[in-house]
Amino acid sequence: MDCIFCEIIRGSIPSQKVFENEAVYAFRDIKPCAPVHILIVPKAHIASADEINADNADAVRDVFLAIPEIAKAAGLTNGYRIVTNIGEDGGQTVKHLHFHLLGGQKFAEKLV
Ligand code: AMP
Ligand code: ZN
Repeated sequence: MDCIFCEIIRGSIPSQKVFENEAVYAFRDIKPCAPVHILIVPKAHIASADEINADNADAVRDVFLAIPEIAKAAGLTNGYRIVTNIGEDGGQTVKHLHFHLLGGQKFAEKLV
């Protein structure tokens, strides 16, 4: 399967890793949208949040269990944002479930 994030997890494409455990991999976004912009991905290939089901939902649990540690290590003591884009209308460009951890600034615009 041709998936850039699976390749990054495997190590065949280089990345700036910030965290890894048996289920989760996190690395710096190549085109940061904020002073801190980290991508947090489950190692299991799931195309998007729209593909989550009872059999693979542990991947989401594992990601969210890792988030506080990743945010703390990145120095985000005053809050941050987690974003996941889904499908065409959601603006998803990489079809491997990932969560953008954005921080290091106060976000002016609120979408929701
Ligand atoms: P999305 O548009 O939500 O699917 O997010 C995909 C993200 O992956 C974008 O923010 C890209 O900048 C980022 N990205 C794509 N290729 C790489 C890469 N090789 N290393 C790090 N980040 C990447
Ligand atoms: Zn993948």
